[in-house]
Amino acid sequence: MDKENKVREIVKQKFTEYLSAKKCRKTPERYAILDIFYTDQRHFDMDSLYEVLNERNFRVSRATLYNTMQLLLDCNLVLKHQFGKNLSFYERAYNNDLHHHLICTVCNKIQESKDAELRLLIQNKKIKQFTPTHYCLYIYGVCNICARKLKKENRKK
Ligand SMILES: [Zn+2]
Ligand SMILES: [Zn+2]
Repeated sequence: MDKENKVREIVKQKFTEYLSAKKCRKTPERYAILDIFYTDQRHFDMDSLYEVLNERNFRVSRATLYNTMQLLLDCNLVLKHQFGKNLSFYERAYNNDLHHHLICTVCNKIQESKDAELRLLIQNKKIKQFTPTHYCLYIYGVCNICARKLKKENRKK
């Protein structure tokens, strides 16, 4: 079994244990939602999750989706990011390397950055009278594609 499939099996197992402990129903829909995060390693908002579920022929209600996301957050299999006011994004939490997020403020696209230099800089930083355990770094700006579009539009003016 390759590493990716192994991770998918492990998270499925963890989810099963959690659902049993909480006496929640183990529905195929719940597992389908979990699986999306561990096959397609992107950052999803609720709308894009909904789309993928439809593509995979799962018909779930908004309520079911929200409810399942709460369960996945609660058992630490999914992480939630709040990028800006109304931008909630979710991503896999298990076996996910530390990375920084680059957020385009024009198209809301999220990119991951695994810049080792930046990571070491933060990890090695001593902070007076404080012991850091973890951190999130969000960098806001304009992505390449949007920058090009904006340039073109400005030229037209
Ligand atoms: Zn953009
Ligand atoms: Zn991420």
